[in-house]
Amino acid sequence: MTWRELFPGTTEAEWRDWRWQQRHALTTAADFERLFPLTDAERRGFALAAGHTRVAATPYYASLVDRDHPACPIRLQVMPSAAEAVPAPGDLDDPIGEEPHRPVRAIVHKYPDRALFLAVDRCAVYCRHCTRRRITFSDDEGGFDRAAVEEGIAWVRAHREVRDVIVSGGDPLSLSDQKLDGILAGLRAIPHVQVLRVATRAPVTNPMRVTDALAAALRRHAPLFVVTHFNHPKECTPEAREACERLVDHGVPVENQSVLLRGLNSSARILTDLNERLLTFRVRPYYLHQGDLAAGTGHLRTPLAAGVAILEAMRGRTSGLAIPHLAVDLPGGGGKVTLQPQYLAGEGEEGARGHWLRNGRGERYFYPEPPEQDCTCPYEAVYYPADAAARGGPAGGDGEGE
Ligand SMILES: *Cc1c(COP(=O)(O)O)cnc(C)c1O
Ligand code: SF4
Repeated sequence: MTWRELFPGTTEAEWRDWRWQQRHALTTAADFERLFPLTDAERRGFALAAGHTRVAATPYYASLVDRDHPACPIRLQVMPSAAEAVPAPGDLDDPIGEEPHRPVRAIVHKYPDRALFLAVDRCAVYCRHCTRRRITFSDDEGGFDRAAVEEGIAWVRAHREVRDVIVSGGDPLSLSDQKLDGILAGLRAIPHVQVLRVATRAPVTNPMRVTDALAAALRRHAPLFVVTHFNHPKECTPEAREACERLVDHGVPVENQSVLLRGLNSSARILTDLNERLLTFRVRPYYLHQGDLAAGTGHLRTPLAAGVAILEAMRGRTSGLAIPHLAVDLPGGGGKVTLQPQYLAGEGEEGARGHWLRNGRGERYFYPEPPEQDCTCPYEAVYYPADAAARGGPAGGDGEGE
């Protein structure tokens, strides 16, 4: 069914208005029941979710639901499931250990050169797999008011080692242009901040949000990357394409981070199709996230080997541009690591010392070690004289970094 049939009485102008989409979000079982019949399991999920988690889907995102199939990937991302109440081994309220790394309310600081800036606790759509559900699903956080934002910006200003700030939340594009622009301008004015990133699901869940005015505003804060979150080819609609292309056309590069979700996109065919389509939107696949141990998401997690097997199936069969990094954010706060299929098959001797490697077809190839092993770059000390000075080497430079 088209959106006109699903939402009778809605004008084209309303449908294309991102605020209308946010205001008319479906939040209750009754709201969804008007679009399609719920299964008993979905009804139980709603009953269990009430009072514990937030539920919302923009009419646009809800219109992508397959009315006939409860296993529809859109449905699985927005409909609360009774399985969310079933604990899984290792479940954590703070799955990737962010709380000990929050020097101020709006900042998560785990890596010396990067900071995560929590700008808002709200989203247009609440994803059932959200890793930050302790913030997005609850009212305890109390939002991020002007004081929290100011404090976050002041913190970044005081930390000269931070050169990359990821504005996230919640979904920062659920804020008004003016509010978002204020935050970005505040960060952009800090001389040591090289790169800004804006992490948002809006191109997927509310593509109408990406207006020309917004894209132009983001471009003014370049270098700025938008990092979005497509999980399934079903989300690659003409509207989503338009949103991504509008950003890129304005000069804002777009990257994608998917979450690997069991029974939803845990298939090489689905993820290859998704990432190939994203490239046609000029969106570059960046991460494929192994499910975090967020309590209530155990039913959506895959075995670690599943993601590796998917990467293995993709390598050699699609372009490297379409293959994301498989990232595991270590439980408890150890940070991200990436997993790869193991292509090194052992050391050997074939005329010279070297390594056996295998390809995806299981064929073995020999790579001999080069004649010389020393990888020092002599010009490095010339090009970075301050480093040499710091090490007590030959003087040069003024110590001002770049
Ligand atoms: C993921 C993450 C980043 C960004 O990591 P990249 O690998 O640079 O994309 C930065 N800070 C925190 C706290 C994160 O969780
Ligand atoms: S849009 Fe992002 S922050 Fe919001 S619920 Fe989904 S995953 Fe969580």
